[in-house]
Amino acid sequence: MTNAWQKTMIALARSPVAKRLAQRTIGSSALARQYVGGADAAEAVNTARELLSRCAIAASLFHLGEYVDTPQLAESNFQAKIAAARLAGEAGIDVHVSVDPTQLGYLFDPEGAEARMAAIADAIRVAAAGRSGVHMLMLDMEDASVTDATIALHDTMARAGLPVGLTLQAYRHRTLEDLRRAIETGARVRLVKGAFAAGPPLALQKEREIKANYRKLISLMLSPQAKSAGFYPVIATHDTALHDHARHEARSHGWQPGEYEFEMLLGVRTNVAEALAREGERVRLYVPFGPDWWPYAVRRIGENPRNALLLARSAVSRD
Ligand SMILES: Cc1cc2nc3c(=O)[nH]c(=O)nc-3n(C[C@H](O)[C@H](O)[C@H](O)COP(=O)(O)OP(=O)(O)OC[C@H]3O[C@@H](n4cnc5c(N)ncnc54)[C@H](O)[C@@H]3O)c2cc1C
Repeated sequence: MTNAWQKTMIALARSPVAKRLAQRTIGSSALARQYVGGADAAEAVNTARELLSRCAIAASLFHLGEYVDTPQLAESNFQAKIAAARLAGEAGIDVHVSVDPTQLGYLFDPEGAEARMAAIADAIRVAAAGRSGVHMLMLDMEDASVTDATIALHDTMARAGLPVGLTLQAYRHRTLEDLRRAIETGARVRLVKGAFAAGPPLALQKEREIKANYRKLISLMLSPQAKSAGFYPVIATHDTALHDHARHEARSHGWQPGEYEFEMLLGVRTNVAEALAREGERVRLYVPFGPDWWPYAVRRIGENPRNALLLARSAVSRD
């Protein structure tokens, strides 16, 4: 059932007609409102401010649009990220911007993408200057073909003293080694389960195995060695058993809330995020924004058949 549902949602996410029809209505669609922080950087920053003042939850701003294949799209993604950094700085919130290398043109112009990436990290540094908070360019991790390049980008920027973080995927066999290296250098790592298709030579396949590996990696991220290396763990999952494990490891090894954080997606299990924040944990939501929101929002719907109601409501109502 779940599989058929997910396949239907993937087809819908890829449908140009559905996308065209739906994206005309960003201001009014229930679907967009649930998962997307706004049509542009200014709206996303308003969403982030509101989250912070209403429930003490921080945000990472993400301009939607991956795997771009033209210099024009790479440039407009770049400008949107720069605007997000500047506006977050002006609003006095965390200057925290998530970036996919392929959205800056990595696939057809790696040097250009690297330069844009460094310019965004520098804009974050400038926008956050002199303010406490968690300010960084967080590199998302895409499919296996760009893993080495993404890690290399991260390492180059970190060595240059730029504020960067790296996402690693618990389903990849290589992640244990990548994480060990990142811990040694006191990096900031967001751990996710992994969302891209990757076969058995590259990745664990069964949910049970991925979850067990995630648990093991959490223990490493919240170990005494990681703490003394100045490592910053980001536990990015909606899985409450993994939250519990992380909190247990943190307490056992003397980590205080705020020395690590939980990150979830805007609109997904909001009650869980709010409860963690109420209990004193540092929580961040990934706040996507931009006009190209349809594929992203429909993928979120596909993750849980119970979200069908939201899709139906959004199809019939524009209020
Ligand atoms: C902040 C953040 C950044 C991410 N960045 C990346 C990245 O750079 N690269 C990458 O490969 N992946 C990324 N991901 C996605 C990640 O790899 C997983 O695919 C995704 O988080 C689902 O796994 P999970 O552990 O959160 O939840 P699951 O194991 O799928 O589910 C845990 C619980 O949450 C519920 N749940 C999950 N999704 C929904 C939903 N949409 N609606 C309602 N309930 C839901 C489930 O029903 C279940 O009860 C990111 C995820 C987050 C939270």
